[in-house]
Amino acid sequence: VSALYLGLVHHPVRGRAGETITTAVTNLDVHDIARSARAYDLAGYFVITPIEAQRVLVERILEHWRDGAGAQRIPERSEALARCATLDGLETARREVERREGRAPLVWVTSARAVQGAPAISYREAAAVQGPALLLFGTGHGLASEVLEEADGVLPPIRPGAAYNHLSVRAAVAITLDRLFGDTIGDSD
Ligand code: SAM
Repeated sequence: VSALYLGLVHHPVRGRAGETITTAVTNLDVHDIARSARAYDLAGYFVITPIEAQRVLVERILEHWRDGAGAQRIPERSEALARCATLDGLETARREVERREGRAPLVWVTSARAVQGAPAISYREAAAVQGPALLLFGTGHGLASEVLEEADGVLPPIRPGAAYNHLSVRAAVAITLDRLFGDTIGDSD
């Protein structure tokens, strides 16, 4: 994929009982996912929430680390957060990628569970795509079913056969990026 953007979705996501909710942004997700996104050279990392107060909060954190006292103190963190931005929804994220890349992105989704109703795409196929893509991760109990079903591609779940495969979103991002772009260590295939 020539320009991959990552979206961390806070709405619409599932709540405990499967209802659609909006989750709160966490500081840890902003920082940790920004580092993974930077390490794998993604084009951008969007923290997506319709709650304006949360976007303002995240922007203030980003400012501190990008331009403020934090940037001087810990430049590596500043570099990681340089490609992070907040957006108010999925449609805005799609349009933002299109504006930057001159072409609408393919939208890919991730889930711990198998998803019916949207085409599957392998890690290898995704990595080989020419063009921009927006890769979405959920918070709460995962992306809302309409987001999963309307996607252009669903990446395979990680550890689908395991008794437990509910990873933190930070771990899921890191594993997914390594499956897409990682160096193979040891084995030559
Ligand atoms: N509150 C949780 C946290 O602290 O991270 C949020 C859980 S949220 C449901 C985790 C997201 O990571 C999922 O929506 C999905 O995008 C991804 N994820 C988690 N486990 C996964 C797996 N086994 N395979 C693929 N993606 C997974």
